[in-house]
Amino acid sequence: MIRRWLRKVFRREDPAGGMPIDPETLGQMVRGILSTRPDEIGCDECFEQLDRFVELTLAGKDAAEAMPLVQDHLNRCHDCREEFEALLLALKAVA
Ligand SMILES: [Zn+2]
Repeated sequence: MIRRWLRKVFRREDPAGGMPIDPETLGQMVRGILSTRPDEIGCDECFEQLDRFVELTLAGKDAAEAMPLVQDHLNRCHDCREEFEALLLALKAVA
């Protein structure tokens, strides 16, 4: 669907003029639309909150409900999920 939309936009670059479209800018825009939602957090933010998330998990609390954005990120980001699991194991080991 996006691809069809792109083709449509590019085809609009007619010699008659109009707004010139920078393909690179357009690509970045589309990637942005595809990969983020307004309420999403990134790896940095996830990492900052991860220790608290792990603490809640270890305390037997519903960390996913308390910090849904972190849970959401962990569902999508393999790196952060590994980080989470490693942290969880480490804290369990010293608990
Ligand atoms: Zn991440």
